[in-house]
Amino acid sequence: MTGSAIAAHGLRKSYGDKTVLDGIDLNVPTGTVFSLLGPNGAGKTTAVKILSTLVRADAGDLHVAGHDLAHQARAARAKIGVTGQFSAVDGLITGEENMLLMADLHHLPRREGRRVAAELLERFDLVAAAKKPAATYSGGMKRRLDIAMTLVGSPRVIFLDEPTTGLDPRSRHTMWGIIRELVTGGVSVFLTTQYLEEADELADRIAVLNDGKIAAEGTAQELKRLVPGGHVRLRFTDPAAHRAAAAALPRAACDPEALTLQLPSDGSQRDLRALLDRLDLAGIEADELTVHTPDLDDVFFALTAHATGAPAPSDRPAPSKETVR
Ligand code: ADP
Repeated sequence: MTGSAIAAHGLRKSYGDKTVLDGIDLNVPTGTVFSLLGPNGAGKTTAVKILSTLVRADAGDLHVAGHDLAHQARAARAKIGVTGQFSAVDGLITGEENMLLMADLHHLPRREGRRVAAELLERFDLVAAAKKPAATYSGGMKRRLDIAMTLVGSPRVIFLDEPTTGLDPRSRHTMWGIIRELVTGGVSVFLTTQYLEEADELADRIAVLNDGKIAAEGTAQELKRLVPGGHVRLRFTDPAAHRAAAAALPRAACDPEALTLQLPSDGSQRDLRALLDRLDLAGIEADELTVHTPDLDDVFFALTAHATGAPAPSDRPAPSKETVR
């Protein structure tokens, strides 16, 4: 399985008569970030627990860090780090003591343990807080300590289960920087997240889990191409210009009250130039032109709306837009 940090084929897991994972395939190339998305209860945490050897699968050919989980779970475990919802941080002892405890668990000689702990506390900006009980740390500091503790064992594959849930935007960005650094260091990351922006920002490949199956898999760009919804919107202040534009662009959806026109578009330069040429030819100038390309939210809602009862993309608040004047 060289080249794959994680390779799963036919992964199955049921609890009672509820099938949580219905024979899924996953492949995470070494040194990349893979993000598993899905609505609540889709089975993301179950997948993390199985692939990190905490829970046994019912079936599947599973390899992590080059080891077959059916026969070499212990060897795989030695190369795995898990952080997230089931954090290992003990709030009653200090950050430094948590780190040293981890070093002991990994059987590092005392001096080596102290060196590694000090280095990681420094790297994760926790030196000032190192002698304080972890219970006094902010959410962001606890997550940083959690990752630092995971790194004591020099894992090659790290599972991050919703690493930024509940963090403020600044701490979230700090965490993103940390995750990018891990990957630069050659670590492979399996990330679950509720924030589509996070997957878009960090993941090389994304899979959407729904109804026990992988509903779609690919790069963020590939997934965005799966859903329609790209369009250009023109806005006018002069009703006469709006009427003239509507006549020149008969394919456009026209809103006479808002004085707008909306046309399907892939947002490409060629498409926009053709539109601008037609407006120029008719001697019409729009007051505003906005381009909307589908975002990961559109993809997620389109693929999972059925299961969650979530609103369809068109019912959602307008996503961020890129404005060209
Ligand atoms: P997610 O992380 O995507 O929110 P989970 O993996 O936590 O989803 O849960 C998937 C489904 O499996 C849920 O319906 C949950 O209730 C069920 N489940 C998870 N763990 C157990 C368990 N130990 N026993 C019974 N059902 C479980």
